[in-house]
Amino acid sequence: MLLLTAHTYRDGPFSEAAERLGIEIVKAIDMPRQLADYWDVSLGLDFDRPDAAVPPIVAYAAEQPLAAILAVDDSGALLAARASAALGLPHNSVAAAEAARNKYRMRQLLTQAGVASPPFRQFTAGQELADVAAQVAEHVGYPCVVKPLTLSGSRGVIRADDEHELAMAVNRLKKLLDSLIAPGASKPFLVERFIPGLEVALEGLLDNGRLHLLALFDKPDPLDGPFFEETIYVTPSRLAPATQAAIVETTAQAAAALGLQTGPVHAELRVNDNGPWIVEIAGRSIGGLCSRALRFDAGDLGTSLEELILRQACGLPIPSLGREKQASGVMMIPIPAAGLLRRVEGVTEAEAVPGVDDVTITARLNYRIVPLPEGDSYLGFIFARGETPGAVEAALRQAFGRLRFHIDEEIRLISKQ
Ligand code: ADP
Ligand code: CA
Repeated sequence: MLLLTAHTYRDGPFSEAAERLGIEIVKAIDMPRQLADYWDVSLGLDFDRPDAAVPPIVAYAAEQPLAAILAVDDSGALLAARASAALGLPHNSVAAAEAARNKYRMRQLLTQAGVASPPFRQFTAGQELADVAAQVAEHVGYPCVVKPLTLSGSRGVIRADDEHELAMAVNRLKKLLDSLIAPGASKPFLVERFIPGLEVALEGLLDNGRLHLLALFDKPDPLDGPFFEETIYVTPSRLAPATQAAIVETTAQAAAALGLQTGPVHAELRVNDNGPWIVEIAGRSIGGLCSRALRFDAGDLGTSLEELILRQACGLPIPSLGREKQASGVMMIPIPAAGLLRRVEGVTEAEAVPGVDDVTITARLNYRIVPLPEGDSYLGFIFARGETPGAVEAALRQAFGRLRFHIDEEIRLISKQ
């Protein structure tokens, strides 16, 4: 059973992988029951209310036995863990799934286990700004990063270098949380010390608590704030082998600290003179369309990341965890301004850049697009392969340079402050 959100990019790749492997899947989608019936979805569940969502899964399994329950995005992780526990299926523990989903819990467990992680403090939206500032000055320090506990894609993540910027960042995050969370519900957020350095993303697979590295991506564009747009990912990493080994080791320690035992891991780390530091670690695979950048050695066609994950979940043999020989990369195209996306030009020219495999525009024309820190999507994705990581990065940049996005920008009634 796959737990999916209605707008996920991950449905297609997992469904295709299941088909290739001859694994029958049933999809449970995070949506109200009535809507699910209307759309002919097998199972509509509220992922945020596992107590109510577990029984329908158990009832389903009584009729149609399940081999595994997999959440493909963060939002279903807790439900997958709870339902697996109820059915006695192999899965990460509920506590581990909770920790991997909640940035505050994650920081607590990392700190307790002595894994390199910055100082942090949790606050709630109702707290006085002066109180937040006083605690940040005492326990966190500047520069710092303000962030929500359970969003993703850098949504609501804002750097602040002093008390004034902190106040602006907190107010901006509060507004975002107000727009997303029901009135009256508590709106916690985190402030943690900014970790300077280079950033990498690690894709791995845990097997009985052992971490197997699938791919280490460099993020060659600097991520220094105030907002943190993801752009280029390139693998293999160009960092020194000893640095890469330290990154893998720190990620393994972080997984152990959270209690993650099995299945995919996606971790982000920053590396500086003091070694690797965990930005975050999640018990899921890479998001968006990015997994298309990964192919593993097995036969002519190569194996997808989703095939590896499904094989492991269903106890099928895994041919090889080694990535293909070529360097590979993806560029997530950030949204530059709020407005209506009217036209996209240059896709054919971008695809013609040597090394570029594909350019996929995912934003829909004539719909409103919103940049970070409030937005939650990309304009699209560029994929490239090549002999070296440098060639891949250059191809991605060249292709991006050929794209032109025409956006009818919204008039900004309120200034940025
Ligand atoms: P999300 O779940 O939204 O991806 P993250 O905690 O991973 O949230 O933060 C998004 C990005 O913001 C990170 O990839 C990193 O570039 C930046 N970031 C977050 N926390 C820190 C930090 N403490 N120090 C430096 N950069 C950070
Ligand atoms: Ca992240």
